[in-house]
Amino acid sequence: MEFPLCTFDLKTGIFCSKCREKIRQGLYDEFDIKVMKLLLELEKRFPRLQKAGYVKAVNGKETIFIVLREGSLRDVKFKDLAALRRILSEKLEKHVRIVEDSNDVIRFIEGVITPARIIAVNKIWLPDGSEEMRVILDDRRRLKVGVNSLVKVVEEVKGVKLNVDFERRWRIRPRKVGKRISQV
Ligand SMILES: [Zn+2]
Repeated sequence: MEFPLCTFDLKTGIFCSKCREKIRQGLYDEFDIKVMKLLLELEKRFPRLQKAGYVKAVNGKETIFIVLREGSLRDVKFKDLAALRRILSEKLEKHVRIVEDSNDVIRFIEGVITPARIIAVNKIWLPDGSEEMRVILDDRRRLKVGVNSLVKVVEEVKGVKLNVDFERRWRIRPRKVGKRISQV
């Protein structure tokens, strides 16, 4: 796999000045280093990963996202991807999702939320001049990743503040309300 830090440095744990600078700038943190080391070890078992490129690992509250360069998973068999995800989930002790990056924010979000789907997208300008993206997803039950983790991965990888809502929330309406309406 192609890593943003030197393979040699990852193996030895001693980083050259170039890598140290990337870490100092906050592009990659301790968690990235841990994940990169793991992927480096697992590459032997999953040789198709050699063509993949590492982008970022995001440790969300409910889900860990490992973001790989667009096209990285094209040649990886579903069976291998599932096995890789299982091993990573065990080693990192949290639900892991492996997703591909995209230049298009919407496409990136679609990859993260699948099998849930985007119904609508709005851009909101906040009073402080910053921009927020509001997405409405089809169904709360179809989203298999945590909402907090989704917001975090989109912010850290795409630099976009995300606000998530659902078309179907599956809330049970209190009976009282229905009664009152029927009486009117
Ligand atoms: Zn280096």
